[in-house]
Amino acid sequence: MRLHWHRRDLRVTDNPALAGDDRLLPVFVHDPAILAYGAPPVVSFLLGALDSLREQYRERGGELLLARGDPRTVLSDLAEACDADAVTWNRDYSGLASERDRAVAAALADAGVSVDVERFGGTLLHEPETITTADESHYSVFSDFLQEWRNQEKTAPVAAPVRGDVVDPRDSLDEEWLDEASGAAGPLPSLAELGFDDPNADVQPAGTDVAHDLLADFREDTIYRYGDDREYPARESTSRLSPHLKFGTVGIRAVWKATEDAAATAGDGYARESVETFQRRLAWREFYAHVLDARPDVVIENYREYPNEIQWRDDLGGLRAWKDGETGYPLVDAGMRQLRDEAWVHNRVRMVAASFLTKDLLIDWREGYDWYRRKLADHDTAHAAGGWQWAASTGTNAQPYFRFLSPVTQSKEYDPDGEYVREHVPELRDAPTDAIHEWPILDDEKRAVIAPDYTEPIVDYGEHYERAIEAFEAARGDG
Ligand code: FAD
Repeated sequence: MRLHWHRRDLRVTDNPALAGDDRLLPVFVHDPAILAYGAPPVVSFLLGALDSLREQYRERGGELLLARGDPRTVLSDLAEACDADAVTWNRDYSGLASERDRAVAAALADAGVSVDVERFGGTLLHEPETITTADESHYSVFSDFLQEWRNQEKTAPVAAPVRGDVVDPRDSLDEEWLDEASGAAGPLPSLAELGFDDPNADVQPAGTDVAHDLLADFREDTIYRYGDDREYPARESTSRLSPHLKFGTVGIRAVWKATEDAAATAGDGYARESVETFQRRLAWREFYAHVLDARPDVVIENYREYPNEIQWRDDLGGLRAWKDGETGYPLVDAGMRQLRDEAWVHNRVRMVAASFLTKDLLIDWREGYDWYRRKLADHDTAHAAGGWQWAASTGTNAQPYFRFLSPVTQSKEYDPDGEYVREHVPELRDAPTDAIHEWPILDDEKRAVIAPDYTEPIVDYGEHYERAIEAFEAARGDG
């Protein structure tokens, strides 16, 4: 019998580690060391995804075993208790996850249980070792990576295990073990039991059916206009697959196949370009995962060091206003309120809000990373570090240090009718569109008349530009 340890591959279809016809006992372990980095929206999504995974196993006559504790002990004890001959899992790429993988493999060996340990690649289309530069290191320039990534053949999704291949743990383990593991067929722990009590966390529906519906809708329609529409937050034209890709409620090979099917019927014009643009987003996802695999420290350290330290500002008031969506910069505030209400934010607005924090307020990107980690249902170490370090001009393909995403210009360009801002900032619902875009540069009297309840800008537009340039030039040693 084989034990499969689920982590962020919470699906049975398109899961390469589940292929094969050996008897399978699936397990998920609530690990306190990982939960320490959790937050209500992410953990809530995880619980929904586990519920769905459990159903998928029940449909196959099996049961997902849910355990709690240190996976080193849980998996060694479990392998022994059910007399497993193999333990498998899909690979993850953060430093913490890689360390945990090594520790679990070592614990299985030390415990003297005779099992084969095998790791699969179920999260990415291409593993980090397969796309490297001439000197076998990771790519730090996306365009070079993309060329190589495109050239490599992509494999098809694998079928799910069939009925009868999945074991019910109640038939294989004694009562004492099941009680200790918190009971195979018992209820899932609640958010509160896991230490994340928050009644508003449950805002992103989870599970494989949800993921497949999203993918099917996207593939049928939206993908063909993704090319331009993806930049406009009010158009709702992106896939919304991010939390599903994070937890693997949909497999990346299934997503890729959907894009290839869409490409086959797209013709040659804009629709096809749109499909290819979306495929490039999937390449970004893999690029950042490869960077994280090579440089696990990018979560806390600048990828690209400047000769001198960047002198970030301590500005508790500014940070608070940013988190609360009360900066007086409407597009930024709309994004931060969408984050609060939906545990998800449109990519363009994530970029604008991140640029505002790191450049306009000159606050350390790690503060922003940490807030997004606590509020997003799709928080993903690799993409978050990539996105934040891009905005802060410290990352791989970073913005040049002198480039800002002006919230005024971005608002005019990407929310031309003010629709997105009006949806998330009700104080501006009745304001003229020009006033929404230009709120930070209107004079006080006009602002008081147009939207008396909306906040004043916390920094003067344009004034902070010099401050950030000076800080970056000092860090570069140019000053
Ligand atoms: P779509 O446009 O439909 O894209 C499809 C998938 O491609 C996404 O689900 C995601 O897996 C991947 N993708 C798209 N854009 C990017 C990108 N720029 N980098 C890496 N992968 C990408 N994404 C996360 O999944 N988790 C995060 O924690 C995260 N933090 C971010 C922080 C900042 C500051 C920035 C600028 C971006 C961040 N992103 C993050 C990337 C991006 O914003 C989201 O992936 C995207 O908005 C998710 O919505 P979607 O699924 O509708 O995207």
